[in-house]
Amino acid sequence: MTSNQTEIQQRRGDIAARLEELKADALLISSSANVRYLSGFSGSNGFVVLTATETHFFTDPRYDIEARTNISAKVHVVKGSITPKILEVAKRKKLKRIGFESSWTRFDEYTRMKDGLPLGFSLVPVGRIIEERRMLKSANEIEQIRRSVLLNSEAFARSLKRIRPGVRELDVAGEIEFQMKKLGAEKPAFETIIAAGAHSALPHAHPTGHKLSANELLLIDMGASLGGYCSDMTRVIHLGAPPKKLRELYNAVLEAQLAGVNAVRAGITAGRVDQVVRSVMKKHKLDKAFVHSTGHGLGLEIHETPRLGRMDQTILQAGMAITIEPGAYIDGWAGIRIEDTVLVTTNGCEVLTPTSKEFVTL
Ligand code: ZN
Ligand code: ZN
Repeated sequence: MTSNQTEIQQRRGDIAARLEELKADALLISSSANVRYLSGFSGSNGFVVLTATETHFFTDPRYDIEARTNISAKVHVVKGSITPKILEVAKRKKLKRIGFESSWTRFDEYTRMKDGLPLGFSLVPVGRIIEERRMLKSANEIEQIRRSVLLNSEAFARSLKRIRPGVRELDVAGEIEFQMKKLGAEKPAFETIIAAGAHSALPHAHPTGHKLSANELLLIDMGASLGGYCSDMTRVIHLGAPPKKLRELYNAVLEAQLAGVNAVRAGITAGRVDQVVRSVMKKHKLDKAFVHSTGHGLGLEIHETPRLGRMDQTILQAGMAITIEPGAYIDGWAGIRIEDTVLVTTNGCEVLTPTSKEFVTL
């Protein structure tokens, strides 16, 4: 459990204070990251019902001990389907308008709830209000992200020693994930991306049995989950000296990445940061090769709001943790992406990722 109880109480208080404006008597939370945020529970089957004055937590018997020991709420351990128990509590407490997370509630859960509600009770769809609050990290959360980022970079440094011609992409992924766990991570935050040569032109390539050869490019996108909090970093390395054209491509992406980092500060929109990065890519005639957004928030999940894309009007605020990760992908030849995790501050940002952005040659 990483979030202390006081912090969890504050979060609940803030969300409960919005029930009136949402025209709801209670909020049913089913997204696992949001459940963790509001209870500390990290298992796979948990629901929270938040009212103006109470928190109810529902899970199954596998988590009985964990729930009763660690979760400060009215705990309901339910055999079989949890929905009838949630309905029973709603009826008993006269929670007539039940807010639910429309982005996260499964259709069958929704139907079961709807069919089980007595007359006069209703379900109220609620947007991503918990995700909105999660954008702003507390000092405690920032510390967790910082540790996760440092661990991730250390796992990268240790794994570099094992990269040489003849090693498969899958071996590199295995080595990285092994090092993460040796350093205390619970798991990788996402499936590690290891892509050699032309394979790197696929932004979300899966590692394969391909053996690295001398004079090959290798893209590594990796993140760790530590205490529930994610890190995210991409680096590109080259076995042998990289050819001039590749070095030029690398330098162009690096220029865009640094421009993005320099643009980040409290008060600017996420979309504006994306524009700054995109204009550098355009200057190098790489705008069409840059096929994804500039970055994303991260925290309990690897992809959180804001999304640093063209249209995102979210105003960056001090205490947001985001990535800056432009990339250029040239089909059949190469892909370059450079990604750091940064913390938005009042005057700019702090780059949390300590790993050098020089084009590493092994
Ligand atoms: Zn990322
Ligand atoms: Zn990444």
